[in-house]
Amino acid sequence: MDTKRQIAILGSTGSIGTQALEVIRDNPERFSVEVLTANRNSKLLIEQALEFKPNAVVIAEEQKYNEVFDALDSNGIKVYAGEDAISQIVEMDEIDLVLAAIVGYAGLKSTLAAINANKQIALANKETLVVAGDLITSLARENGVNIYPVDSEHSAIFQCLVGEHQNPIEKIYLTASGGPFRGKDSDYLKSVKKEEALKHPNWDMGAKITIDSATLMNKGLEVIEARWLFNLKADQIDVIVHPQSIVHSIVQFQDGSMKAQMGLPDMKLPIQYALGYPERIKSDFKRFDFADYAQLTFEKPDTKTFRNLALAFKALEKGGNLSCILNAANEVAVDAFLKDQIGFLAIPDTIERVMDDATFVNNPTYDDYVTSDSEARELAGNLIKHIA
Ligand code: NDP
Repeated sequence: MDTKRQIAILGSTGSIGTQALEVIRDNPERFSVEVLTANRNSKLLIEQALEFKPNAVVIAEEQKYNEVFDALDSNGIKVYAGEDAISQIVEMDEIDLVLAAIVGYAGLKSTLAAINANKQIALANKETLVVAGDLITSLARENGVNIYPVDSEHSAIFQCLVGEHQNPIEKIYLTASGGPFRGKDSDYLKSVKKEEALKHPNWDMGAKITIDSATLMNKGLEVIEARWLFNLKADQIDVIVHPQSIVHSIVQFQDGSMKAQMGLPDMKLPIQYALGYPERIKSDFKRFDFADYAQLTFEKPDTKTFRNLALAFKALEKGGNLSCILNAANEVAVDAFLKDQIGFLAIPDTIERVMDDATFVNNPTYDDYVTSDSEARELAGNLIKHIA
């Protein structure tokens, strides 16, 4: 890279955000931090800003503004507050690339704003594509904006496609670890608590995605994300459980050849690839050792027990706003599970009911998505009140 790539990290205090900062810390000659944003973790945001000296920071929770301002203003760092400020700050001229690492629907508006402002996107926030994949990808196409996947599976597919742009994809296989409850039945699952669900076997991630991994909704969201990123049909996407999380995903081409991307599970690698694309930056990330893995195994996912994956395929096949509804119901149900208000199996129950009851819109606009999201949240909230 000739000059430093100037980066805005939306959600810098989260699991992806902090790992992205580790990558940037290790590559100061390649990257500089222009903007950092957080929801409410003012302490960490201040710490990060004092180290990385961004042009500006945003704290979404407005009550925290004074604390952040007092700590950073004298250091010449601009401080803003409120969710709208996140969508405004991405327009800053100095920014080359926006890392969208806010969790959930809350990341949609700022990602759209960044694409509108012609910024390149490194996308971790998969919910954005689940909710409004058609809107995001068509806007990105119109504006000539590249979306570099951060999700390890999509990064794997993306890496397998380098040099293959004239060769159509026949099929992709997204690998799934199976999460902490792989092999368990519904009887077992009905009484599991959040502490067990939060113990992911291979990845250390934020709470919401960790629960999504345990329910297999994460893989469902990734199926929808892949549909939009790689312009695929539902029947071109398959999920395969691979408990060791070494093969990060596979592309099958028209001649039957399959390409896989492999490595130890470490999110810093796909983050770095997205930030530094097309360069593979030298790293000291731990290397895979064949001696540590006597075998790599693959099995079909159990979609009867882990119904969320089947629900995501249903949403993808039906189209319209159904993925947006699925996502909103899931966010509400996961939040309720994390607050011990509902059991593990009430998550798919809630999502399924909301998908049946919410208003279906065939060709949604942005406003339709906003309305669908809030209708689905209300329906899910009411169902949960009855369970709790
Ligand atoms: P975390 O919960 O760890 O972090 C979320 C970040 O978003 C935090 O900085 C948080 O701020 C901020 N945030 C949360 N809500 C809001 C809001 N309403 N407005 C503004 N900012 C907000 O999540 P992860 O880092 O785990 O995940 C981020 C995204 O990346 C998700 O979409 C996830 O699916 C995806 N992803 C994550 C992976 C991982 O390994 N973690 C792997 C692949 C994808 P605060 O800290 O102040 O609350």
